[in-house]
Amino acid sequence: MLIDSHCHLEYDGLIEEQGEVLKRARSAGVQGFLNISTKQSEWDQVVGTAAREKDVWASVGIHPHHADDHAELDIDALRTAVTHPRVIAIGETGLDYYYDKSDRKIQQDLFRLHITVARETGLPVIIHTRDAEDDTAAILEDELGRGAFPALIHCFTASSEFGRKVLDLGLTISLSGIVTFKNAKELQEIAAELPEGRILVETDSPFLAPVPHRGKTCEPAFVRNTAEFVSELRGVTVEELAATTTSNFFKLFSKAAA
Ligand SMILES: [Zn+2]
Ligand SMILES: [Zn+2]
Repeated sequence: MLIDSHCHLEYDGLIEEQGEVLKRARSAGVQGFLNISTKQSEWDQVVGTAAREKDVWASVGIHPHHADDHAELDIDALRTAVTHPRVIAIGETGLDYYYDKSDRKIQQDLFRLHITVARETGLPVIIHTRDAEDDTAAILEDELGRGAFPALIHCFTASSEFGRKVLDLGLTISLSGIVTFKNAKELQEIAAELPEGRILVETDSPFLAPVPHRGKTCEPAFVRNTAEFVSELRGVTVEELAATTTSNFFKLFSKAAA
């Protein structure tokens, strides 16, 4: 059994045939999906899919790309949204200095706001970080100093130094199809060495289709290709990798197991 710990089922490319997309994934052995939101106007739809499909869960949050549009986000709106029984995580949130689509200070403030709700509720924060390792680590250290909260770095592509840092801070690391790309040597070395209890797999579909589907619309069924690739890197069977990552998923997202 595999779980896709990060997909965008409401995005163009998947929404048009969402039922078929889920069916194909289930046939490929994917038995759980975490449907991720990126802006407040999506929350109802993302949670609605999770309420309808018994193997889909939801996250609510604001992607750093959309931070500018949510500079006035009311923390109580987030607090209310996470009380839904199918909402098991907060995010995706974080910092994206590669595209810099929103003001960096607003990205940082919103990142901290998500963390506040994570600390209050015990729900994990799903962190997106790109070209922002130093600030991401600094905010995590500062906020963890104020009180614990669970968190993961999704679609991990950062340096091994940053990887060590976030593992030391207790975070989990989620690998997307990027790990299967030919030029991802450093990431492959990190993936081979990750502690068994700290590793998840995801698609980030409809983006980033893994080898051998590169260039196609990514869909949750393809998490199997990433899992197979990572299992080879780690010298285990894909069944073992699936069991490990599924167990890690339910430990981290404990509301899904309840
Ligand atoms: Zn992301
Ligand atoms: Zn995403």
